Amino acid sequence: MTDQPTPAPGAEGPDAAQSGTTFTPAFDHPVSPKERMTIDRSHMPEQDALLRAANFREVNLGYSQQLAMLEAERCLQCKNPVCIEGCPVRVNIPLFIERLRVGDMDGAAASLLDDNALPCVTGRVCPQEIQCEGRCVRAKKGSSVAIGSLERYVADWAMAHPDRSKADAPTSSGRSVAVVGSGPAGLTAAGELVKKGHDVTVFEAFHAAGGVLIYGIPEFRLPKDIVQQEVDRLVASGVKIETNAIVGRTYTLRELRDRFDAVFLAVGAGLPVFMNVPGENFKGVYSANEYLTRVNLMGAWNPESDTPVLKGHRVVVVGGGNVAIDSVRTAKRLGAEEATIVYRRGKAELPARAEEVHHAEQEGIRFELQVAPLEVLADENRWVTGLRCIRMELGEPDASGRRRPIPIEGSEFVIDCEMVVVAIGTRSNPLLTASEPDLALNQAGYIVTDEHGMSSLPGVFAGGDIVRGAATVILAMGDGKRAAASVDAWLRGEYPPVDEPRVPARTTAPIAARSEA
Ligand code: FAD
Ligand code: SF4
Repeated sequence: MTDQPTPAPGAEGPDAAQSGTTFTPAFDHPVSPKERMTIDRSHMPEQDALLRAANFREVNLGYSQQLAMLEAERCLQCKNPVCIEGCPVRVNIPLFIERLRVGDMDGAAASLLDDNALPCVTGRVCPQEIQCEGRCVRAKKGSSVAIGSLERYVADWAMAHPDRSKADAPTSSGRSVAVVGSGPAGLTAAGELVKKGHDVTVFEAFHAAGGVLIYGIPEFRLPKDIVQQEVDRLVASGVKIETNAIVGRTYTLRELRDRFDAVFLAVGAGLPVFMNVPGENFKGVYSANEYLTRVNLMGAWNPESDTPVLKGHRVVVVGGGNVAIDSVRTAKRLGAEEATIVYRRGKAELPARAEEVHHAEQEGIRFELQVAPLEVLADENRWVTGLRCIRMELGEPDASGRRRPIPIEGSEFVIDCEMVVVAIGTRSNPLLTASEPDLALNQAGYIVTDEHGMSSLPGVFAGGDIVRGAATVILAMGDGKRAAASVDAWLRGEYPPVDEPRVPARTTAPIAARSEA
């Protein structure tokens, strides 16, 4: 550890996200750039690995005020802040960090919320290491500024002090917009459109709003009351939400187009892909989607609930993305003595966030890498007893840029287990898209849009996973933000928009299922 400048005593204190304490800079003297470079990155406090592997409470505990103020000092306030380039919604990172550094919490919160509709969420689940933090100049000489942890700190503070960041109600435009789907794309678009004075109603198929944030990502990574508070903030700003409303069943898209002046489709890509191996119908095989949704949204962890999930002593999860890691860590918390990931490539190729893999390892998750499933085995009553697998070696990179797994002849073996969770990807759900023949789709069933987010139907826009296929929360939010600008321009008769938020282009239309394999 390098010698660090000594923080001013006044900088210590309770977690400011919980309290309204006075904020003072971490140092009581001007800090020179050289001195700044000697400050080590503040580590995020976390629950002990052994304890947390048996509970659903959040793993990361959040910075204290002292850690946040110290970390804010590490930002060099670069003239060319390349960190912003790495953020899909272009959060003005140095601005909110500088406001935090000088103790202007209202200013920090206002700036962050202006750029990002769901900062409590993105501060927790964004893959910062490949986005803003991956670009931060400090990464080249040690470790990047902990931008995600600071974002979470300021966002949690804003959440705990709602009266301090209230915006004035906009003048009504007299126009209305239907948003279909309440995941990050839909919620972001709804929040932006309400700010512009439009009357917005979100239609959500489930009984709760939030999309994957509420039914996919588990409590120990993203507490549900945080998502609910973000949803409540949007509702307080004027967004209306109608749950249990399946567009394509409860209402047709045609009906929405007749009732509203514009429509934004953000229905995600939640249809599970299966392994296509013998035995997949045996009792004890789940899709990760079903498993996580039932645990997160339907209380299925509770054996007294209407539809409890099985609690295997030995659980195998097939896949290597965030969904697979979330599933295996959930199984561990539900009491699995052996919880194993089976992934056909190596550790370097795991698509999950690095932090999640690290946390899973700490919690005792077993990784069977370079292994592929061949067959699910079962007893005479069709209950799962094992997964027959084969070992793989890695060849040349394939179309995805990752090294191609090749089976090693004669290396078959069996992993004994009572449960198999399949987390190898998802694809677009045809429920809505199939109900509207004039809505143009690509070969894989994803909605095709123009560069501003408008579909083949005039006034109907789309974004998030239903357009991109494989994506992240922040990219879905970026699409929502851009769609809001396009919808607004459309409603004002000025389409296409001239001043559009910059969001990374969609990788041309997805032609395969989202791959976690
Ligand atoms: P979704 O979040 O899927 O929301 C779509 C919503 O539309 C859902 O609520 C759905 O019920 C609703 N809907 C669908 N059809 C209809 C209909 N016909 N009528 C009405 N409503 C409908 N990304 C990250 O950045 N970091 C992570 O750590 C991360 N972890 C993940 C973990 C899991 C388990 C999963 C599944 C995904 C994870 N992702 C992560 C990916 C990320 O969550 C998605 O990319 C993102 O949520 C997509 O947002 P969306 O708004 O397009 O769709
Ligand atoms: Fe601060 Fe890093 Fe961004 Fe520079 S690149 S402004 S050091 S966060």
